[in-house]
Amino acid sequence: MTIDKTNFLDYGILTDGTPSAEFAKEELQNFIEKSCGFRLGAYDSQPHYISLGNSDYAKDIIAQHDLSDLNEEGFYIVSKGGNAYVFGASPKSVIFGAYELLEKYLGVRFLASDCCHTPKQNRLDIPDGEIKRVPISAQRLYLSHFSCEDRLASLRHRFSADFTPDCCDLGIKSKWYTKIPTSHNSNCFVPYEKYKDSHPEFFNVHRYELFRTLTVIEMCYSNGLTDDGEWDESVETSVLSVATDSMMKFMEDEPSAEFFMFGRADNEDCRCRCKRCERAREKYGDVGTMIVFMNAMAKKLRQKFAEKGKVFDKKLVTFAYMSTVEPPVKDGKPICKQVIPDESLYIRYAPILADYSRALEDEKQKEETRRQIEGWSILTKNLMIWDYNVNYYDYLWYFPTLSFIKQNMQTYERMGAYYVMKQGANNVHPIWHDDLKAYVSSKLFWDVNADVDALVREYASLYFGPGADKVQAYIDEMEAFCEDLKNKGFCMSVTAQSDGQPYFSAELYPLETLQRHEKSIEDGIYAVENSNLSKEEKDAYIKRLKSVLITPLRMIVKNAQTYFGEPNVAYEEKYWQIADDIGVTMSGEAVPIFMELASNGDTTYKIITGQNQTEEEKQAVALLQNYVLEKTGVLLPVHTENAIYPGHFEHAIMIGKNLITNEFYKQGLDLSDCSYYIEAQGWCVFVDSDYDVVGAVQAFIDLCLKQGKGERSLEIKSCKRVGKR
Ligand SMILES: [Zn+2]
Repeated sequence: MTIDKTNFLDYGILTDGTPSAEFAKEELQNFIEKSCGFRLGAYDSQPHYISLGNSDYAKDIIAQHDLSDLNEEGFYIVSKGGNAYVFGASPKSVIFGAYELLEKYLGVRFLASDCCHTPKQNRLDIPDGEIKRVPISAQRLYLSHFSCEDRLASLRHRFSADFTPDCCDLGIKSKWYTKIPTSHNSNCFVPYEKYKDSHPEFFNVHRYELFRTLTVIEMCYSNGLTDDGEWDESVETSVLSVATDSMMKFMEDEPSAEFFMFGRADNEDCRCRCKRCERAREKYGDVGTMIVFMNAMAKKLRQKFAEKGKVFDKKLVTFAYMSTVEPPVKDGKPICKQVIPDESLYIRYAPILADYSRALEDEKQKEETRRQIEGWSILTKNLMIWDYNVNYYDYLWYFPTLSFIKQNMQTYERMGAYYVMKQGANNVHPIWHDDLKAYVSSKLFWDVNADVDALVREYASLYFGPGADKVQAYIDEMEAFCEDLKNKGFCMSVTAQSDGQPYFSAELYPLETLQRHEKSIEDGIYAVENSNLSKEEKDAYIKRLKSVLITPLRMIVKNAQTYFGEPNVAYEEKYWQIADDIGVTMSGEAVPIFMELASNGDTTYKIITGQNQTEEEKQAVALLQNYVLEKTGVLLPVHTENAIYPGHFEHAIMIGKNLITNEFYKQGLDLSDCSYYIEAQGWCVFVDSDYDVVGAVQAFIDLCLKQGKGERSLEIKSCKRVGKR
């Protein structure tokens, strides 16, 4: 079929009347109009039509196709007899099929949440024949800020998972129970506050490790089980019984939900240390202990459903993560029958400790990671993947996963993963390389053999306009550079903190190289400024280029002490300005670039001092309090270190020496020739000196605080400062 300006009135868009098909119709109408200059009407007895979904005229065509092997959200586009038919097995199939039609036949590109490329065409040409598209996994997502927040962009990337935005009004119900978090949520099942006094044996409370970690509460997963891993009927109230009752309640609360996550706490080692857990771990391994627990829960739920005359058709999901990542497999077989997951149990494999400089199955990948891939494939077909694509302490640092993103996707397809989620920087936007990876992933999810280099080039050229060549050259150079690092044996961890890790060290990145990158991206910005584009277009491209520029700036600022012998104020100012211009507020998962002190009356910020304040410290505290009070109306409360409890040092400005800063210094900070030291990172600010604490606070006020966005607020910039003696 060929539709153009001369014949478009002969065509209408026919739907099956469902909200999802109606939505797909509007998307088609809008993009076709934008591209071709004519708007197709709704079907009203025109000679020809594009049919969406299970419309009356599509029934015969649909009957000739098998919809059971479309991996839930795949679709067909059939063009025949002057009409076109888009259909599949689920409401999202129709929407995704409509997007395929726009991409394939009009060249539309859904690049990012702020950019759809719609080329001008004379006509819409859909040749006779049929297309069948099947995603590699039934559920799939690149978890970035936009894919969770921007429904339209998320749908246009054909994402679908627990974190994607609600589509109830389109007749699409979430497959997941999302009234509780779908990650580390065990506390939602067995609340610590409710049971800590009556059943302290339920919990292992992992006390804080002074810095950047919170108190973690993990449960005793042998509580409620016999030594044989069966439900212990002699115990009335146990972790297992309470968790199972909660699960039952959630399942009854949302009967349409299919997947229910029960997720362990997020910590490297918060395992219960009781004797029974130790014994269980010896027998079943770490994750095996968790599987035994979940299997017992599944068995009981099946029984509870049966008692109500219902079939247990729900899916339980649990993590293979951190200490529970090793599959309980030996010599190609499960270590015992108890560790074989119940048929209702899905394993969410999250290899966070893998080497992310290379593919998971690369021969130089960590041996344990390769073993895990193999082991989980042996143990179960109910697999979900959760992988990682940025460094979580430094989102802005170049993190090279493009070179093997396709290989990993092929691994997941081969493993038969039901769900693939690639986590990026999900709590901040824009992180330029995250958006790029989201785009590339969105294509690989539907074609695991897609040409990644071509996708990157396409994205760069359309997204950065006149600055595209510079960005492309930058990506090429950084990828080659990181390839070289990898060959030299550098391992890239997504959890490596940028201080002191080889991958982040100044020696690897000569200042001249970073400055050349800086200049090159700036040249891209000049190219946009000097182009004939409209102001609106220029502003959009410049903002995007600035989002790239912040990466070399970040890399310079982070190691400024080494490059310049001291922090470089000019570079810091530039970095902060760019962050402000593009609206990036976090440089890591829990690392704000600006921390805001607002006068909303219940600020959680506080000043923490040592137990015995010196006169200078008292003076410094008063100086800061007065300054903040004057600017925001907030009188920061002062706590002494003996009043500190776990987590309390969050949102704190620490002045002078105290127990916490002492621990910090023990981690290797040499301040012997400094007159003061300031670090503002995460949610803590350290303002400290043996010699000049008043000077330190003054320097902090001068350099680190800027006017906040609200009328009576201040923003504290993340920074590191050293005063030279
Ligand atoms: Zn225990």
